[in-house]
Amino acid sequence: MSGKASDNRINSGQAKMPIAVLGAGCAALSLAARSDAFSSHQFTIVDPETHLSDDHIWGFWAMPWLDHVTSVTQKTWHNWRIISPDLLLDLSSKTHPYCALSRHEWLSHCHQRAKDAGVSVVHNLDHLNPEQILDSRPPKSPPGALLQHFLGYEITSNRDVFNPDTAILMDFRCDQSRGVHFIYYLPFTQRRALVESTLFSPSLVPEDFYDTAIKHYLANHLECTDYIVKRRERGVIPMANLKQRDPDRTGIGANGGAIRPSSGYAFTFIQKQIDQILRGAKPGKPLQVKKPHSRFELMMDQIFLDVIRHKPSLAPAIFTSLARYLNGDEFACFLSGEASMKIWLKVIFAMPKWPFLLSLVPQIRKKYRDDQITTDQNLGQNK
Ligand SMILES: Cc1cc2nc3c(=O)[nH]c(=O)nc-3n(C[C@H](O)[C@H](O)[C@H](O)COP(=O)(O)OP(=O)(O)OC[C@H]3O[C@@H](n4cnc5c(N)ncnc54)[C@H](O)[C@@H]3O)c2cc1C
Repeated sequence: MSGKASDNRINSGQAKMPIAVLGAGCAALSLAARSDAFSSHQFTIVDPETHLSDDHIWGFWAMPWLDHVTSVTQKTWHNWRIISPDLLLDLSSKTHPYCALSRHEWLSHCHQRAKDAGVSVVHNLDHLNPEQILDSRPPKSPPGALLQHFLGYEITSNRDVFNPDTAILMDFRCDQSRGVHFIYYLPFTQRRALVESTLFSPSLVPEDFYDTAIKHYLANHLECTDYIVKRRERGVIPMANLKQRDPDRTGIGANGGAIRPSSGYAFTFIQKQIDQILRGAKPGKPLQVKKPHSRFELMMDQIFLDVIRHKPSLAPAIFTSLARYLNGDEFACFLSGEASMKIWLKVIFAMPKWPFLLSLVPQIRKKYRDDQITTDQNLGQNK
């Protein structure tokens, strides 16, 4: 990918505002693909191609703001399941199925659409004179943050072993000695599936831990020992409120706060963030980017993360309880940041009370302290 930045196109006699977007990942290319909808801003993507990512699957629930994505999704599941050692919970939704999308397919689809709309991809900022720089390069993870880390294999078996109608979002019947641990498995066909060993913990584990977990799971729960690994995917997603990589540049995507701290989901929130950027775009003005999560959601996420960090053994009960109290539509909306007050109340009732109350108190104290600091700073500025 390389090319020369195209001249700003003229719109109703006025030049479009040139905007450089750093990084050619999910957020940058999803934004550039919708370039036609921006009548007064012209994007150029800047990526040195020194940090190329392997292919992986993005999972998310179908939502109205993702209608433009569904033509590219690899597979959808109207049923999904959460399993703990003593409970199995099935959820389903007609309107909000769980979807899987290949990273490479989505990025090349967006790249083509962006190119058709006149967006260039260049290796550096030389010769560009942008009026605004949007930064989608990944933010740094704060030291000691809880991490979602995983290794997965896309495998094919020579006999029918998977049920392609149901996605397994979490199966906790695996080794819990190194943190919250579950198997996530997406059956694409009866013979092909992505099977991932995922942990929530502050430190990573050696690769053979995930590997053994996947092998045991396949053998013990699916009687599958004869298979070929077609592809592997690995990831580490910080489960925290992340600070922008460069405070002087407007962050977008993960660097604009799009990762939901409690779940690590980002794809759906990136598309939401782009919708918000588009709605707020004004001729001659820099683009405004907001975090796609409310302050309330972020506070609740901090409480949740605090509980599972200090009591990881509660995780299977928390997630199965969530699946028991919510129906499929509510569950999908909750994890896509669309929870109504009714859904929030159900979630709060589903949680074990004491651990959450004990985590709530320090959060309120912290919020009070932060508000106090902001007030003092404002008073200082007004003097
Ligand atoms: C293996 C894996 C699986 C995931 N699965 C899911 C999932 O199922 N659902 C979900 O919602 N989220 C998932 N995520 C979360 C993921 O972080 C986001 O989905 C998404 O990639 C974030 O998009 P982004 O544009 O912010 O960052 P990226 O897509 O990572 O893009 C950042 C860009 O910056 C570029 N870059 C990096 N460093 C530099 C540098 N120093 N200089 C210049 N450019 C640089 C990179 O080349 C890249 O193009 C997953 C992440 C991983 C790693």
